[in-house]
Formats: sequence, structure tokens, C-alpha cells
Amino acid sequence: MQQQDFDFLVIGGGSGGVRASRVAASLGARVAVVESAQLGGTCVNVGCIPKKLLSHAAHFSQLAEEAKGFGWQLDKPQFDWPTLIANKDREIERLNGVYAKMLAGAGVNVIQGRATLSGPNSVLVNGQTLHARHILIATGGTPSLPDIPGVEHAISSNEAFHLKELPRRVVVVGGGYIAVEFASIFHGLGAETTLLHRSQQLLRGFDADLGLHLAQEMAHQGVAMRWREEIQAIEKQADGLHLQLKSGEQLVVDCVMYATGRVPLTAGLGLEAAGVKTNDKGAIEVDSHFTTNVPSIHAVGDVIDRMALTPVALAEGTVVAHHLFGQGGKSAPDYELVPTAVFSHPQVGTVGLSEEAARQRFGAVQIFQSSFRPLSNRMGGEPENVFLKLIVSKADQRVRGVHMVGEGAGELMQGFAVALQCGATKQQFDATI
Ligand code: FAD
Ligand code: NDP
Repeated sequence: MQQQDFDFLVIGGGSGGVRASRVAASLGARVAVVESAQLGGTCVNVGCIPKKLLSHAAHFSQLAEEAKGFGWQLDKPQFDWPTLIANKDREIERLNGVYAKMLAGAGVNVIQGRATLSGPNSVLVNGQTLHARHILIATGGTPSLPDIPGVEHAISSNEAFHLKELPRRVVVVGGGYIAVEFASIFHGLGAETTLLHRSQQLLRGFDADLGLHLAQEMAHQGVAMRWREEIQAIEKQADGLHLQLKSGEQLVVDCVMYATGRVPLTAGLGLEAAGVKTNDKGAIEVDSHFTTNVPSIHAVGDVIDRMALTPVALAEGTVVAHHLFGQGGKSAPDYELVPTAVFSHPQVGTVGLSEEAARQRFGAVQIFQSSFRPLSNRMGGEPENVFLKLIVSKADQRVRGVHMVGEGAGELMQGFAVALQCGATKQQFDATI
């Protein structure tokens, strides 16, 4: 039998890969993680963390306005993009270091380089072949931009984190998580912002009322919303980027950011060499223990495209490590009850089923919803309303979905997620003081 260099060789030092390698090492496995860029992956470097920092920064303009209603006299606030980006970069660098230390402390070998599968138990990295009893693919995803003339002048969220200056006029294309978050960031920081979407529904897949309410609030704040619109071509001219729209109109802006989805990152990974199957979306197919059709190769996170969220990749990484090196016993997460937050302004928080999905599953459902202007917004002069919606299956009175648009919605949902996980009923919600 082939001499194995490692028990577990992990490709990708992002959320899923780092978690799986740390847990596997703690269970006694000899582990290496191969990372081609920075440790921490998308979340730490070009995802959740820098996004939350930018989102936090963008909120100050609204807070400064609100503060007046509470007696504060603030001079016209000035914002400096290079300061924000430099401080953000410093924080990310610190986190990269924390990850390196954490892995070293756990006894995981970190190999810097691009890995390619060369067989069911072998990986080629930096010209060297490494053998492992088990291989984990945790290579994440990458932005997908439509193939239109001039698309090379556009950016994705990856580049948005490193812009030299804040664009004066920006168009964000898409209506999902990244589009609404970045439209709110650019707008909050002072850019003239347009959100351009091919349909008329934000956050498809969420409860439809959330998208409606968010769109209303964003429009109120001054984000220009262009529905049922697409860019057909982008031309770079001296005065900016000229966008030819499907409607026949032209827009001139300084920056176009596409947020039109992400695809699993498998290009050049050698999946064919190892015989690993993907589905029609290019995602690696896995079973309930995250094992591919090749018994020694496993995959977690965005590359399997089940639910592209960091806590989900972490949970999947934990399951795979326990399954391979522990006593087993940890099963795949319950994807249906994963709470999620969208860091738009205002925030969106949601857990459980949308009204549409609940009606399909249970037939008769009861809807409890409310929209109100919070006290602080009244004093601060903000017109923003909070929207709350509860979905209950009529027969058993269990709460099946909780949905909210409003500041703090993301944090709030974590508590509701526990309640839903425990099967809480509407009566129990009502009885809670
Ligand atoms: P990743 O974190 O992407 O890690 C994959 C790693 O593999 C990368 O470091 C990459 O360099 C490396 N790699 C790829 N190919 C190779 C190779 N051949 N050899 C060696 N290394 C390789 N999720 C949330 O839960 N909350 C949020 O607020 C949130 N915000 C987001 C904001 C943005 C703008 C984006 C893009 C994503 C956001 N996400 C958020 C999603 C979250 O970042 C991902 O779901 C998560 O990072 C997936 O983890 P992963 O381990 O699958 O992949
Ligand atoms: P999403 O899938 O959320 O949204 C993609 C958007 O792009 C949709 O509105 C879609 O429209 C539109 N779209 C897709 N293709 C085209 C096209 N060819 N032309 C025009 N519009 C198009 O993807 P994101 O890129 O926003 O984010 C990727 C994933 O990353 C998310 O699904 C999420 O899992 C994760 N993420 C999580 C965050 C969080 O937890 N806060 C934050 C950011 C990302 P339509 O609705 O019509 O299909």
C-alpha cells in the first residue's frame, strides 16, 4: 500500500477547510491544509468580515442624521475611504495571523500553494505529490459575471474591497445578498447609487414580503432602484463607464459592480483526474457525510453549493472531521432552520419557511405581521419602518418562519432560531413576557 504523508489533506484554508482540519487534528489525525491565497478564505478576506466592517462604516451617515433629533449638534461629517480601507486591511491581516496561529497550535501543517488532485489519494502542490488517506475539497466559490461586451470594466465584490477611491456614481447589478448589502454600503458612504435588477423582486427565495419591504426602505433612503433592467454593454469613455441598458437608456457611472451570484470554484482542481462527479451547476456532489462518489474524497462549503454561508461551512467541516476521525455521531446540519442575516440598511433577518413554502408544505397557515416605526426613528426623524412576520402552521400551531426587516434583525434571529429548533408554538411565543 502507498505510504501516506497525511491522514487528512484539506484543499482550501477557508471557513470549512480550517474548521475540518482543526477538528480532525484534535481527534488525532495527521493533517495538512493547502491554501493558495490567504488563510480564512472568502469570509475573512473578501466576504463576511470586511463586508460587515464596510457596512458598519456606512451606517454612521444615518446615525449622524438621527443624532440631531437627540440633541447632538454635529458638524457636517466627512468620510475618508482610504482610511476605512487601510484600517480594514489591517484588521484582516491580524485575522490572517490569528488563523495561522490557531492552525499551528492545533498541529495542522499549512502549505502555501495551489493544489490539484492527481488521484483518489494524491494531490499535486508546488510540484510535489502528497499522499493522503482522505482528501477534503473546501475550495469555496467565485463570483459569476454575465458575458457581455465590456464586462472587463466591471468589478465584483472581490474588487470592491480594494477600490482606490469611493466611486462617485455606482451601479450595483443583482437583487441578492451581495447586491443589496453593497448598494447600502455605497449609498451610506455617500456614492450616488443605483441598484439595477433583472426582475422586480429582491432576495428571491426569502419570504417575498421581506424583499418588498427592503426595496421600499432602500428607495426611501435614496438608492435609485431600476427594475426589470439589464446592462447590454459597457463602454469605457473619458467621462466614465457608459452603460447601454436593455430598455434603450444609457447610464454614465464611475463603477459597475456585479453581484449576480457565485459559482463553485473547481476549475483546474483536477476533479476529472480523480473521477469526482459534479452536478449541472458545477457543484461537487456529496452524500450525507460529505463524501463524493470517490470514497477517499470529501467536500464541504460553497463548493457543494448547498447553502453558501460561513456557519454552514463550519458545521459541515465539523461533521466530516468527526465522521472520518471521531466516533461519528454528528449528522449533516438541518439546512431548513439556519437563520440568516442580510447586512443591508435596514437589515434583514430570517429563519424557517417563507409564507409560500409553508403554504406548500402545510396547506393552512396563519400569518401574523406588523409594521411599525421604532421609537428611536421617531425621535431621530427617520421614516424607516420595521417589518415583522410570523408564519404558523394552523393544525399544530408551530411557528414555521420568523422574518424581519429592521436594525438588529440579524442578531434577533439567532434567538428565534433556537425557539424554532425546539418546535415552539405560537401559544408559547404569546406566553413569553
Ligand atoms: P472559502 O471561505 O471561499 O475558502 C476557500 C479557500 O480555498 C480560499 O481561501 C481559496 O483561496 C482556497 N482555494 C481555492 N482553490 C484552491 C486550490 N486549488 N488550492 C488551494 N487553495 C484553494 N456568509 C455568512 O455566513 N455571513 C455573511 O455575512 C457573509 N457575507 C459574505 C459577503 C460576501 C461579499 C461574500 C462573497 C460571501 C459572504 N458570505 C457570508 C459567504 C461566506 O463567505 C462563504 O459561505 C464561506 O466563506 C464559505 O466557506 P468555504 O470554506 O466553503 O470557502
Ligand atoms: P444570490 O444568489 O444571493 O443573488 C444573485 C442575484 O443575481 C439574484 O438577484 C439574481 O436574480 C441575479 N442574477 C443572477 N444571474 C444574473 C444575470 N445573468 N443577470 C442579472 N442578474 C442575475 O448571490 P450573491 O452573489 O448575492 O451572493 C452569493 C451567496 O453568498 C449568497 O447566496 C449567500 O449564500 C452568500 N452571501 C451571504 C451573505 C450573508 O450571509 N449576509 C452576504 C453575501 C453573500 P434572480 O433573483 O432573478 O435570480
